Amino acid sequence: MDMGIKGKRALVCASSKGLGRGCAEALAAEGVHLVMNARSDGPLQEAAQAIREAHGVEVTAVAADITSDEGRARVLEAAGQVDILVTNAGGPPPGMWTDWEREDFIKALDANMLTPIALMKALVPGMMDRGWGRVVNITSQSVKAPIAVLGLSNSARAGLTGYVAGTARQVAERGVAINNLLPGIHATDRAVSLDSGVAEKQGITMDEARAQREATIPARRYGTPGEFGAACAFLCSQHAGFMIGQNVLLDGGATNATI
Ligand code: NAP
Repeated sequence: MDMGIKGKRALVCASSKGLGRGCAEALAAEGVHLVMNARSDGPLQEAAQAIREAHGVEVTAVAADITSDEGRARVLEAAGQVDILVTNAGGPPPGMWTDWEREDFIKALDANMLTPIALMKALVPGMMDRGWGRVVNITSQSVKAPIAVLGLSNSARAGLTGYVAGTARQVAERGVAINNLLPGIHATDRAVSLDSGVAEKQGITMDEARAQREATIPARRYGTPGEFGAACAFLCSQHAGFMIGQNVLLDGGATNATI
């Protein structure tokens, strides 16, 4: 299917690896020019070059912490006008509900709620003026059903989800579609970090930790960044203009819910 977005420009945050990289690759495969971002310059430049060579699109790479005011300002300056925004940043650390102090919550809110909101506030008005835009926020299955050890994520992402639910319905009449993609477990560095926590806590190997988690997923495997990126490209496509304020779960069936 032709997504109808060839020649458009996208900012894909936190995209040198993992799910953000999957989204960047899938958009580039559709002929979308990219602004990519991550904190470490080396892996970011390598990812940008690989995408230029594979897909022949223009890629601007900005090494910056997207959760800081200064980093975000540099990314936004380099991005200029974009048609598509994919928000993403690292997830908060796991722990017990009693572990976190105010500062931990502020950090999680900054990264996983207030940063995507700031990016939307900066870029959506231009999309509205031009009469077309797409925003995909990478959130988590934790907004549908809480993950006990990820209380910071449960909290911050729920806040973003509420903001998007209200905002998406105010900008839709100007051709801008804002939706959220909710990953369950995917085979990225984040999964390795979560599995090492389980392995350490239970005194089991990484393979055992992964097998244990896979057994809880109806699809019996982890998702891939490629699958995730393809879903993102669809939400950014011409065909998704009637999808507004939705929360699309990609979790291999792990969340046991009827709707
Ligand atoms: P990942 O494989 O660890 O990749 C994270 C990417 O984001 C890297 O390119 C990293 O590069 C960049 N990044 C991290 N923090 C950043 C920051 N502050 N500013 C700019 N770039 C930053 O993670 P992932 O698995 O793709 O996860 C992406 C998001 O989805 C996270 O919020 C995660 O919590 C959430 N999620 C993931 C899963 C999963 O199973 N993978 C499930 C549910 C939710 P640098 O380190 O160089 O900055």
